[in-house]
Amino acid sequence: MKIKIAYLSGFCMGVRRATDIVYALAKNLHKKNKKIVTYGPLIHNPRVLEELKSKGIGSISKPEDADPGTTVVIRAHGIPPDTREKLISAKALICDATCPDVLKVQSLVKKYANKGYTIIIIGDNGHAEVTGLLGFAGSKSFVVNKPGEINNIPDIAGDIAVVCQTTQSSDLFEAVSSEIKNRFPHAAIYNTICKSTEKRQEETRKLAKEADVMIVLGGKNSANTQRLYEICINEKKPAYYIENADELNVDEILKYRTVGITAGASTPNWMIKNLVHELKKANRKNRLKLLLNIENIIYFIVRTNILIAVSAAALSYICTKFFKLHNPSILYPLTAGLYIFSMHTFNRLFDNTLGELKDSSRIGFMESHHEEFKALSIIAMFAVLICSLILGFFAFIIAFIACIAGISYGTKLLPKTWAVRRLKDIPMSKNILVTLAWASITVFLPLFGYKEVSPPPISPLLVAFTFTYISILIFIRCLTYDMVEIHADRIIGKESLAVLKGKSFTKKTIAVMILISALMSVSASYFKVIPSYGYMLPVVSVYSLFYLYLYHKRHFSQEAVFDLIVDSKFILAGLIVYLGLKFIG
Ligand code: SF4
Repeated sequence: MKIKIAYLSGFCMGVRRATDIVYALAKNLHKKNKKIVTYGPLIHNPRVLEELKSKGIGSISKPEDADPGTTVVIRAHGIPPDTREKLISAKALICDATCPDVLKVQSLVKKYANKGYTIIIIGDNGHAEVTGLLGFAGSKSFVVNKPGEINNIPDIAGDIAVVCQTTQSSDLFEAVSSEIKNRFPHAAIYNTICKSTEKRQEETRKLAKEADVMIVLGGKNSANTQRLYEICINEKKPAYYIENADELNVDEILKYRTVGITAGASTPNWMIKNLVHELKKANRKNRLKLLLNIENIIYFIVRTNILIAVSAAALSYICTKFFKLHNPSILYPLTAGLYIFSMHTFNRLFDNTLGELKDSSRIGFMESHHEEFKALSIIAMFAVLICSLILGFFAFIIAFIACIAGISYGTKLLPKTWAVRRLKDIPMSKNILVTLAWASITVFLPLFGYKEVSPPPISPLLVAFTFTYISILIFIRCLTYDMVEIHADRIIGKESLAVLKGKSFTKKTIAVMILISALMSVSASYFKVIPSYGYMLPVVSVYSLFYLYLYHKRHFSQEAVFDLIVDSKFILAGLIVYLGLKFIG
């Protein structure tokens, strides 16, 4: 079975913007004990609404429900002017997160209504956006939501302006507007379907033509998701409209060769990932034994954190070679691998902040073996301390500090009333601390733990190069995951670079870091800081750019495969250093 995901799936610009506004407000206002509510549910997604509720962000449906002083966030659909006035009279503080595209339609309607035009809205009567537009249109207005309905409208004497709900289907708009044109040739008709909706519908139509079956993921009361479903049906393809993966009878889907997935504008990415994961899991049962085994191995090494442990060991190996240590102990890579395994496992198991939103398959697997993983992470931590003790006093101190930092990262150390209770609550702390922890254990352990009688001379320049180069490689990894987990991080409230600065900024930062790492390794070889294999290390940069490109083009339908490709980068770097030393010195 082949799974294809529509390129434009998940949050649209307006929903993303509204979500960002609410989370930014929540952060600032909750500190001051101020109440926040949204006017109507922020998005059509029960899981996200539950999470908002747990953060104390409820929703109201009438202006009278707003207590004085409460901040009321207007969601992307907008509200009618009289509702705004009522909220102001109720002494609520308004934070307007109406989508800019909806605002444009509102001002168009207002302009024509002020000129005395009758307004016809092509849209769903009762939908929040249409209710808002009717508020601007005044009493001379009508809503038409399917072909033929125009005949129910009485004759209109004066001028007419026609607009469309931003999430309407373009087919429906064309059909209804041509009927309007026939009956009222003088009507000024505006196609106000937003670009994001148009592109999403085009993508869905294209995908429905290619796929044997379509799955439409999104809230049942989401108008734009409903349209996507209708498009699939119009393409005469079997289609399933679901709110989450549990609703799907996967055995039904397994009958088809190509499965297309599209999702509404308020469907977060992790829900799409969960769905893909469920489909893949079911499909694996149907595969050839060999393929099944390969897939199982990938899943196993990724989910058990074996892969990142091996990656950390590879980085430690690179450092011993950069420092030209004679016969370096196996304990360096072993300690690094055990440390990274222990800390990643420990923090995932003890992190109760909606980990399942980020990494459903890994968390599910770990949860089902909770006790075993807990024991393994603790055993690995003790093994780290014992190995480092064998390596010497300095190595032990480094490992000990790194273990304490790793354990305290997700532990609530400060009182409940403080906004920052754990290290992980500090913005971007994960990127910085994870980079420092990896770099300390891979760079400093061989540097300070080496106890030969006549150690090789290690210049400060070489130390600075090694630490910076290794840190950049690790930082690229952190930013890559930030980018992938951006939706979940927003909801959890974690302030990663991607959340703070956006996905495109993060992608550019990763690209710049990749370029810097390539330039660094080449310059280090050129200036003889490291041997000639440094000229080969840019292969790692090309590899990183390649997976970044594949991610950008949405070629990864399985998170385990993505993790495998991202984390194998360090192993590739280790292999290059090994082969470089063997063949070119
Ligand atoms: S669907 Fe379009 S108009 Fe509606 S919120 Fe999203 S971007 Fe804005």
